[in-house]
Amino acid sequence: MEQGATGARRRRLGVMGGTFDPIHHGHLVAASEVADRFSLDEVVFVPTGRPWQKQGKGVSPAEDRYLMTVIATASNPRFSVSRVDVDREKVTYTVDTLRDLRSYHPNAELYFITGADALASILSWQDWEELFSLAKFVGVSRPGFDLNTEHLAGHLDALPEDAVTLIEIPALAISSTECRRRASRHRPVWYLVPDGVVQYISKRNLYRPPDSERLDGA
Ligand code: ATP
Ligand code: MG
Repeated sequence: MEQGATGARRRRLGVMGGTFDPIHHGHLVAASEVADRFSLDEVVFVPTGRPWQKQGKGVSPAEDRYLMTVIATASNPRFSVSRVDVDREKVTYTVDTLRDLRSYHPNAELYFITGADALASILSWQDWEELFSLAKFVGVSRPGFDLNTEHLAGHLDALPEDAVTLIEIPALAISSTECRRRASRHRPVWYLVPDGVVQYISKRNLYRPPDSERLDGA
């Protein structure tokens, strides 16, 4: 375990980045499992402002995604939500998220939590070498995606052994895409997302096509 200058254990901070459109139980289980396995003091959920991978695709307003994330995490004393990406003007890159969190928490050890699918695109992320200097990466299993670091072969040799750790977590085949699809067709999202998020989606009428485009003819 790494120690600070005073010999005290350094605070361990998980960082769970995502579009969270909407946040679902797959995200929450991933954060909870990594918190337990790595003895994290806190997991900060960071909803993206404008996600660079999803430009041009209709993403719900950042404020709605931020509020759903707050609602979903409110009951867990070790979970919090950061506005660093939502409040940044430019498109969200993970390296900016980590730079900002590092400046707010200069003495903490950062653990960036990512699902197997997002881990697979890590090399296409900007400044990936700097990413590894800012945080350790924890890749979690996700149904439908292979959890491996083959795409990092050749690069990992240059990194410390604990730069990337892969862990199996309870499989939840839930995606935000499927939740949006269900909500748009008036199908239930109960138990896929926290109750408060079901109610928020309904209150704000998220993911519903305008009346003329409704798919169920209702
Ligand atoms: P979308 O379908 O809109 O891409 P998503 O369900 O993939 O949404 P994101 O907000 O894109 O959710 O994901 C945020 C992070 O959570 C990513 O690292 C992703 O891999 C991880 N993640 C999402 N769903 C799961 C799941 N069911 N199990 C494990 N990890 C997940
Ligand atoms: Mg995704």
